Amino acid sequence: MERHIPTERPERVIDAHLHFQPKNPHFDAIARTAGHENTAAHLERAYLENAVEHGVVMGNRELVKAWREYPPTLSFCAGVHQHALEPENREAALEACESQLSNPQCVGIKLYAGYCAVPLMDGAYIPYYELAERYGKPVAVHMGVTASPRALLKYCHPLLIDEAATRFPRVRFVMCHFGNPWLMDAAAVLEKNDNVAADLSGLLSGRVDLDEYRVRLGGYMDQLRTWVAYVERYDAFMFGTDWPLVNLSEYIAFICELVPREHWDDVFYGNARRVYLSAG
Ligand SMILES: [Zn+2]
Repeated sequence: MERHIPTERPERVIDAHLHFQPKNPHFDAIARTAGHENTAAHLERAYLENAVEHGVVMGNRELVKAWREYPPTLSFCAGVHQHALEPENREAALEACESQLSNPQCVGIKLYAGYCAVPLMDGAYIPYYELAERYGKPVAVHMGVTASPRALLKYCHPLLIDEAATRFPRVRFVMCHFGNPWLMDAAAVLEKNDNVAADLSGLLSGRVDLDEYRVRLGGYMDQLRTWVAYVERYDAFMFGTDWPLVNLSEYIAFICELVPREHWDDVFYGNARRVYLSAG
């Protein structure tokens, strides 16, 4: 079927949320479903075709490994896995995180709330907020529904960011996926806390025919548009793809429909530049 891609597109884009794991069969399959290939060369080409100048990898690898493989078009957040939160591993994991934060390609810390069954205000996380404050780099937190049925939703409800953001007012938090589908709660947290931003990644998956999607899920799109607009802070939303989850070109068109034209340059580019690439 001919897919409807509007001609007007953002002039420059930063992808504030992707996963970069070439040679991983699971990610290979997800990429193919989205009409992509899970390789560095293909990502580079897809970025070029869609005016994506830079990407921020949500460091889904161990704290100590892998970042050396990232091409210069990518920065990354140091990922804090369940393993790092176990009492016997905490000290070494914190040290590893700190050494990553002193690397200029490391632009923040990523927490996998929900995938990790640890409350955000647990003592295991507090040193990471202190580190983020010391290094002036943001803490991105998975929020909203998870890709794995083994994860626990009670640890990734957007309301949980409120307390962390309030106790650590000098830390910038990024609520990944705008807490989808808890949009109303997510909007309340963003409205109240100036130090919380949100990325608009992962709001759908695979390919999308927008004409068909508008008919089938127009109500969902209205909800997204409504709660993004309600926050009245277009400086707080960032475009992200959750690569390789979606087709890049189609997802850009989807987000264009949720954000008024006059805010595209902030949402697609300027906010991510400020939050991730000007920190430190
Ligand atoms: Zn993600």
